[in-house]
Amino acid sequence: MRDLEDIETVGVVGAGTMGAGIAQVSAMAGYSVVMRDVETEYVQRGFDSIEDSLDRFVEKEELDEGEKLDVLERIQGTTELSELSDCDVVVEAAVENMDVKQDIFADLDEELPEDVVLATNTSTLSITTIASVTDRPEDVVGLHFMNPVPVMTGVEVVVGEKTDDDVVEFAHQFAEALDKETWESDDKPGFVTNRILMPWLNEGIRAFDEGVASKEDIDKGMKLGTNVPMGPLELADHIGLDICLDASETLHEELGDRYKPAYLLKRKVDAGDLGKKTGTGFYDYE
Ligand code: NAD
Repeated sequence: MRDLEDIETVGVVGAGTMGAGIAQVSAMAGYSVVMRDVETEYVQRGFDSIEDSLDRFVEKEELDEGEKLDVLERIQGTTELSELSDCDVVVEAAVENMDVKQDIFADLDEELPEDVVLATNTSTLSITTIASVTDRPEDVVGLHFMNPVPVMTGVEVVVGEKTDDDVVEFAHQFAEALDKETWESDDKPGFVTNRILMPWLNEGIRAFDEGVASKEDIDKGMKLGTNVPMGPLELADHIGLDICLDASETLHEELGDRYKPAYLLKRKVDAGDLGKKTGTGFYDYE
């Protein structure tokens, strides 16, 4: 099913940090949600974090108590994959491991009717490789939500080698229906965000390890010095260090040494295109 109008029920695989957030924003947008994890206690942990997050919306008077309960009622928790069979779109947000994701996608392919879009929230793994275990690679797309999902306004749409154009279009529209803005990336390691973010996080961690500054000063320096809301060490903690490590290992394996100055950077400097001060850098300021 690729028409946004036909979407009533959203399936979410994984009830961790991201899965719970995706279930929450889907229910807040009015969809029925089936949220699946492997153990009842993990499903419950997902509900607890959704409730905490909704309480913050109530405190800020962005939701009232009745609306909070309506959102919670729209979410059904389960440990059975078969309970996802009536979903009109599924977003997978299980652990960042190719074998796990391929097993899930093979099962989803069996369980879900033809044409149901199967999306993955992977941070770095190839959409094309995940899709290769299904008989519907044209219906598989990356929907890379940002953490915390209820707060962050962006979603990266990742286009696999075989993803159909109308599935890409559907992915943008679905994210927008969840009140998110989108951008698009090709299925290259780390996509746009993590390809750039992960080296930055690792460099912050190395700077700390090599005694360049205290962790507080590294974070403060990057916040005040580059106008980002969180420094690398606090952001790594916020993302989850295991998630960062999995993502970094994938990027290292796929891209090798990325820390030399970029060729294009040298080329631009040689050409005298130094940025704003010369009127041209990567952007044109004339
Ligand atoms: P997490 O560890 O908080 O949650 C993962 C959940 O998946 C766990 O509850 C686990 O029990 C469950 N799970 C494992 N195997 C499963 C299966 N077969 N079926 C159903 N559930 C299963 O991880 P997370 O931070 O929520 O990350 C989930 C995905 O989202 C990963 O692919 C990650 O790379 C991606 N992601 C994470 C972030 C972040 O900041 N944490 C941001 C964007 C994308």
